[in-house]
Amino acid sequence: MKQTRKGRAAGSASREATLAALLKGWFRKSARDLPWRRTRDPYAIWLSEVMLQQTRVETVIPYYERFLQRFPDVRALASAELDEVLSLWSGLGYYRRARELHRCAQEVASIHGGVFPAEAEELRKLRGIGPYTAGAVSSIAFDRPAALVDGNVARVLARLEVIEDDVKSTAGLKRIWSVAEKLVPQEEPGAWNQALMELGATICTPQNPACLICPVRDACAARAQGRERELPIVGEKKASPRVAMVAVVVEHEGRFLFARRKDGGLFGGLWEPPMVEARSAEDAKSSLRGAGVAAEAKLTEVGRVEHVLTHRELDVLVLRARADRPWPLETPTTAPYERLAWLERSAEGVGVSTLARKILAAAKPEKKGAARKKKARA
Ligand code: SF4
Repeated sequence: MKQTRKGRAAGSASREATLAALLKGWFRKSARDLPWRRTRDPYAIWLSEVMLQQTRVETVIPYYERFLQRFPDVRALASAELDEVLSLWSGLGYYRRARELHRCAQEVASIHGGVFPAEAEELRKLRGIGPYTAGAVSSIAFDRPAALVDGNVARVLARLEVIEDDVKSTAGLKRIWSVAEKLVPQEEPGAWNQALMELGATICTPQNPACLICPVRDACAARAQGRERELPIVGEKKASPRVAMVAVVVEHEGRFLFARRKDGGLFGGLWEPPMVEARSAEDAKSSLRGAGVAAEAKLTEVGRVEHVLTHRELDVLVLRARADRPWPLETPTTAPYERLAWLERSAEGVGVSTLARKILAAAKPEKKGAARKKKARA
């Protein structure tokens, strides 16, 4: 029997209602207990969502807790120094997020009197808030039926609805977003969005979706067609270029030469041992001088450090130098540095990237005992 348009619409509405009921019911029973799920405070939810982008839950928890302790509300964050924000963020990576977080807090404080707007469109006008974060804050903190799409949600929806476009392509993302907008329920949209993400993180995983225990298995089109492992379609990832760098760790009586990168750009606002793009110590000399390393410095090669970023891989040759006296610090002329300082190795109170920590560790002189042991083994 041929189905009428009215009948099809009613069928789709009832499938959507069933999906919503199943997924939200499952989420209420099975969701992991995470600190940001115990609050409806838009500030705390926004903070967690920014931290969770491209970062694992277990890594985020201690950072989230430390941030909330130091900056309990958006005004406290807005009035902090960027150096302190970056210091608390150190090790979490993707430092642009921390700078945007700080600027966004300042906008919320100055434009909205310290109160986050509830609607996703208003949230999106704020610095660093994209469609995903706007949807998350609006739906979770304010119960607005705003959709969201992240990697987990894209995978789940591509399978639930058999979407065959590349989920990283513009067309694929557009499709996924329109499905997410169609499915987000009026009631408890925050629970629905979190449930989709939770399902993607724990059951509908990239390699081995656990369909047998999935709460929406009977409504899943990919499973019905036996195509759950084929989807989503993801285009080939381009290989990251490898970039050769040279870094120098200069020490004078327990203090180290650090350079601060200008705000913006890679590692913007962070402090690190002077580091330049070059293939060898010889090639690096003149740029290093512009980054505060005196011409008289006797440079010794001590090792290499590798560091993988989203779009490139860094291969850093690490040099060490001792300064007989703390050199006078001029304004650096080598991009992207703006300031120099002699700091303790721990560089308390300012932001330091994991890469900089690796470089400092590589330049640490070996303890005499350890060096002897190494020799004996060889
Ligand atoms: S049935 Fe399988 S493929 Fe479909 S949503 Fe559940 S885990 Fe994912």
